[in-house]
Amino acid sequence: MDLIIRQATVAGAEQPADIGIRGERIARIGPAITETSPHEIDAAGRLVTPSLVETHVHLDAVLTAGSPRHNLTGSLFEGIEIWGERVKTLTREDVIRRADQAIRWMLACGVTHIRTHVDVCDPALVALRALLEVREAWRGVVEIQIVAFPQQGIYSFPDGEALMVQALDLGADLVGGIPHYEWTREYGERAVKTALRLAAERGLRADLHCDETDDDQSRFLEVVAAETIRLGLQGRVTAGHATAMHSYNNAYAHRLIRWMRQAGVHIVTNPLDNSVLQGRFDAYPIRRGFTRVKELLAAGINVCIGHDSIMDPWYPLGVGDPLQACFVMAHYGQMSGYEEVRALLEMVTTRAAACFGLDEYGLAEGRQADLVVWDAPTPEDAVRRIAPRVAVISRGRVVARTTPARSEVILRGTPEAVTFQP
Ligand SMILES: [Zn+2]
Repeated sequence: MDLIIRQATVAGAEQPADIGIRGERIARIGPAITETSPHEIDAAGRLVTPSLVETHVHLDAVLTAGSPRHNLTGSLFEGIEIWGERVKTLTREDVIRRADQAIRWMLACGVTHIRTHVDVCDPALVALRALLEVREAWRGVVEIQIVAFPQQGIYSFPDGEALMVQALDLGADLVGGIPHYEWTREYGERAVKTALRLAAERGLRADLHCDETDDDQSRFLEVVAAETIRLGLQGRVTAGHATAMHSYNNAYAHRLIRWMRQAGVHIVTNPLDNSVLQGRFDAYPIRRGFTRVKELLAAGINVCIGHDSIMDPWYPLGVGDPLQACFVMAHYGQMSGYEEVRALLEMVTTRAAACFGLDEYGLAEGRQADLVVWDAPTPEDAVRRIAPRVAVISRGRVVARTTPARSEVILRGTPEAVTFQP
């Protein structure tokens, strides 16, 4: 074996298991592997899961908070204004430097797969070209999918459709969209139809920002579901945010969820950004403005958790850790039931992998060895403490390590360790 993880707690097993890795793959999972390896990790009962999959981030905008100025209100609209100024100064080097930095943070948090949107409302496609380089540079360690994202709309920006086609020709992996931001309902519908037609013609997946508003009249998800079914794209289409669903009447939401299930649409919810951006037009009571995660999960729809922004004009916080998003989701989505807390981790691992379209993923013999060793004994403890990732393994190699902090209290002059374990 090239690497053995000893005494790992793994989902579904009663007793700790050893995980043997040969080359890039998991060769064996069993109670006690008799072989040895020059590289062994003693998990000592710690949780081991498949690595984290980030399904929604904007690498072209990351780490720009405060440049050229800070967002004083924290609103979406001031954010858009500031980004409009910042985007004029984007250069290849600027995008690559910031994206590389953010990817390092995410990798240290256990992320080995990243789906990033990139703004293609730019005649020179500066950010897209830069991120195509970043994607190739990281190949083999972090797999990156690039969504051609028309931030200002396909039909509300000059030559938007041509730019989308050019972005795909250059090598973007997925078709994006933002129908609720287009100038009219008609433009929005056309944008959805164009995006999914391009995906079908080119054999690509699609991932659209969809109904990210508190407007209960924003109803493009139904168009996404209908077009997905019509074009036979079931399982290949993702809708991000879908926050208007919070405000739909229950009869409409019920009907919509049926179409979504038929279409096999994946939903990515982004609790960090949307918890601060939604409900901004409300007097008290202020809506959470959030998609119906529990109802969607109960209906058998795949829901994932995305990080979205990392220190950009829309969200000044974050370190690129999907577990912070899980933690906020537990509160904001009222997912504090025992099974619900455990399910949060699936929404950034196995569920996210299904959205990503990964078929080599998972903690099973023969699968690609992309793993995380947590400084936690259980999934619920990993979420509770946003536990450090002791080791991150990508394709069989340790690519990140974290030494957990040690806390102690000093009482009457005597130090005493505090582990935050009951
Ligand atoms: Zn987004």
